[in-house]
Amino acid sequence: ESTGPKNFIAAIIEKDNETGKYDGRVATRFPPEPNGYLHIGHAKSICLNFGLAKNFGGTCNLRFDDTNPAKEEVEYVESIKDDVRWLGFDWEERLYYSSDYFGQLYDFAVQLIKDGKAYVDSLSAEETREYRGTLTEPGKDSPYRTRSIDENLDLFERMKNGEFANGEHLLRAKIDMASPNMIMRDPALYRIRKVDHHRTGDKWCIYPMYDFTHCISDSIEKITHSVCTLEFENNRPLYNWVLENLGIYRPQQIEFARLNLSYTVMSKRRLIQLVEEGYVSGWDDPRMSTISGMRRRGYSPVAIRNFCERIGVAKATNMVDFALLEFSVREDLNAHSSRYMGVINPLKVVIENYPEDKTEEFEFQNNPEDPEAGTRMVPFSKVLYIERDDFMEDAPKKFFRLAPGREVRLRYAYYVKCTDVIKDENGEVVELRCTYDPDTRGGWSKDGRKVKGTLHWVSVAHAKEVEVRLYEHLFTRENPMDNKDGSDFKDHINPDSLKVLPKCYVEPILGEVEPGFRCQFERVGYFCVDKDSTPEKPVFNRTSTLRDTWKK
Ligand code: ATP
Ligand code: MG
Ligand code: MG
Repeated sequence: ESTGPKNFIAAIIEKDNETGKYDGRVATRFPPEPNGYLHIGHAKSICLNFGLAKNFGGTCNLRFDDTNPAKEEVEYVESIKDDVRWLGFDWEERLYYSSDYFGQLYDFAVQLIKDGKAYVDSLSAEETREYRGTLTEPGKDSPYRTRSIDENLDLFERMKNGEFANGEHLLRAKIDMASPNMIMRDPALYRIRKVDHHRTGDKWCIYPMYDFTHCISDSIEKITHSVCTLEFENNRPLYNWVLENLGIYRPQQIEFARLNLSYTVMSKRRLIQLVEEGYVSGWDDPRMSTISGMRRRGYSPVAIRNFCERIGVAKATNMVDFALLEFSVREDLNAHSSRYMGVINPLKVVIENYPEDKTEEFEFQNNPEDPEAGTRMVPFSKVLYIERDDFMEDAPKKFFRLAPGREVRLRYAYYVKCTDVIKDENGEVVELRCTYDPDTRGGWSKDGRKVKGTLHWVSVAHAKEVEVRLYEHLFTRENPMDNKDGSDFKDHINPDSLKVLPKCYVEPILGEVEPGFRCQFERVGYFCVDKDSTPEKPVFNRTSTLRDTWKK
């Protein structure tokens, strides 16, 4: 894990500390809008902001940027707290809400009006658009731009008192309608919205805009480095304008490239469509790019933090390969998860020369990567399940698994040889008959006879039946947002992203584990127990396969 800062933002902070710009103080914040669940892009921002604070002995605030009442919900606030904590970060007592500043924000707006730097505009939405101009043409001043300070103060107060309808008036900063930066063309500061807010109820019917709220919130909280994504680069002059014209403390805004991950979409606006239109089972569907989805799928916080560390912090937007995330997941699970035997595509094997009612137990190492994980006993008997893929009737020479007449090792147990193949009326193989060699107990032969293949197995009499869910990418296109061909991101949904295997069999000990439990099924993949599990029918999500597609 991170030993120290390595990114360009850390370099800026180091320099600021040298020059004493903020008296050596480092104060960051993570400012989510509670209008959806957090995704892996947010994880990058969380790791960055909390990481910088930690590395520089500073602080990081969790601030809910909750100024848009219609789209925000308490459910989202709670899920965001859960996800930040789960990722391993702690805001301690530094929990803030932009809505706590509504009173101060109002007073600051009044101050701008009094200084002649803001005015109440009464153009219609359409006129406002017209007056704004275009990238190549300057805008025009609104006829209301020259209203007197007294009239502006009166109108703004009456806006607050609810005397006007939505959209009737707008408070705007008086900057420059001809600015080449469209954002500086008299941006809106306050709008009328007669909607209840999840924290302030019906106290307010005017709400401050993001560009007005964000910088002031940063200033009030004495943030030093206000880290945000590149789309806000053009907003930086406005951020500075507001604070300068109010004459209050000014943090510095620093932009970095947002994370884009292949075969996923990331914006909450799109994720919410997947949820509401039923493409997934919910925000925490294991195929979602949300933190809660990844948690349910079995990704660990360490794996996600390592991934965020690995991708680094850049100034230019790029697309990160999903395989790199899986690489981080496998790396952590390989080191920390215990191995068990689970058969996801069962084929019955009867060992003809093994006694009918006998059960014996074999000792298994829980994790060869970690001797401290200990051992466990696994029951063995006459009738077993093996993986269907581990048998082939007309096997080529190089198939080192089971085939008629060939011998393999059953992991830690015995050598077995296939003597007969039983088929149903359609010619499908339904059962194998084998013989075992009692002299190979433990999985090795006294006579030095070698076998190449080692198969996993479970004893039918002892196995627990479970459901297994296999996942593929939710989208078939590397960048589902690529719409050059006129397509919508939902046109690229993968119809086969979820495969449910209702009858799989695992070692009895796995019948007792709780949701969230992670392990490896030997040779099959990493798995995590799903919240849909019941004691009668555990459900396992496949977190990932064992094979790495990521090339370092
Ligand atoms: P979305 O479009 O997904 O809703 P957002 O930027 O509107 O994202 P916020 O809740 O405002 O979401 O984001 C909180 C913080 O997380 C912001 O500082 C934002 O810049 C950062 N963030 C959001 N998406 C990403 C991403 N893909 N990569 C890195 N940081 C991100
Ligand atoms: Mg935002
Ligand atoms: Mg958004």
